[in-house]
Amino acid sequence: MPTGATCERTVGTFAQEEAATMRTIVGHHAARSLLTREALASQVSHAYLITGPERIGRTTLALEFARLLQCQGRAADDPEPCGACDSCRKIAACAHPDARLVVRPADKRVMPVELVREVIHTANLSPSIGPWRIFIIPEIERMAAASANALLKTLEEPPERVVLLLTSSQPEALLPTVISRCQLVPMQAPTTEEIRQALMERWNVEPGRASELTSLAQGRIGWAIEAAQRPEMARERSELLWRLIALTSAARDERLRTAGTLATDTDAARAAVELWMFWWRDVVLAACGAHGLVSAGEARAEAERQGRVLGVDRTQGFLTALVEAREALEANTNPLLTIEALLLDLPALPISAARR
Ligand SMILES: [Zn+2]
Repeated sequence: MPTGATCERTVGTFAQEEAATMRTIVGHHAARSLLTREALASQVSHAYLITGPERIGRTTLALEFARLLQCQGRAADDPEPCGACDSCRKIAACAHPDARLVVRPADKRVMPVELVREVIHTANLSPSIGPWRIFIIPEIERMAAASANALLKTLEEPPERVVLLLTSSQPEALLPTVISRCQLVPMQAPTTEEIRQALMERWNVEPGRASELTSLAQGRIGWAIEAAQRPEMARERSELLWRLIALTSAARDERLRTAGTLATDTDAARAAVELWMFWWRDVVLAACGAHGLVSAGEARAEAERQGRVLGVDRTQGFLTALVEAREALEANTNPLLTIEALLLDLPALPISAARR
């Protein structure tokens, strides 16, 4: 019989994200205090849905809540897990039999239904050592209908002492019945200033580098922290950004050629569109004359230049095209066709884009 003690880990950032505590998770004050309040009042729901953009720290928050609930070393009114007891240490090591992180295998596009069934089976067993049996299931939107329906039954008739911590960056893609059975915990992206400060104060990143990483991170603190430790991530992202920027002055055939390299798969296409969208907002802001709102990053001068030359209507038109492309990719349209159509909508700049 499966015991639920395994912990599949495919997400690269957990090692450092796990080190965070409720106190050190950047921003997210409202989400954090809601969970802390429930734990201290012993009014724990059977299911929570933590929502927010990717790499914002949803799983970190869920792990921290699990640690708070299972901690054996804190006083009843202490809002933080002790970090030192057997439970806290086991959760940090991903080895707690009653706090299981259920991660989609990296080679699967959706959560395998057998894994979901196994979770449901384990949920019906009593906790082994802790007061609760907790399952953290990230990316709940990546579940086929059969899995979602199986999970729904557990949400409708939750076993005693079970807490499901579901997370999603796309709650709009979930079954409404799943949403209505969960207590919602929305996480807002931390402000760019909060990320910049956190990088400098907690991860000792020097100020100039912190500004650069913040502008590339698009509000995703998890990405910024990881990139601070792995410089190649920031370099790759920066190279992608400059390739996108240069497309404005590229000829039509070059644009179509580039589409093939940007849209190798849906994830690559989505990453390109999201990065582009983030930068293009700056182009629109510059076109509108809102210079104080343009992000301070390596591509700021180029955003100002493109905004000035292209003007408000054309830059806003392309922002709409980017939003539509992202929606099309979410709806699983062909990534190559989506990117090709997008590149044909991109306004053309006569002058070659200056690089740095
Ligand atoms: Zn503890």
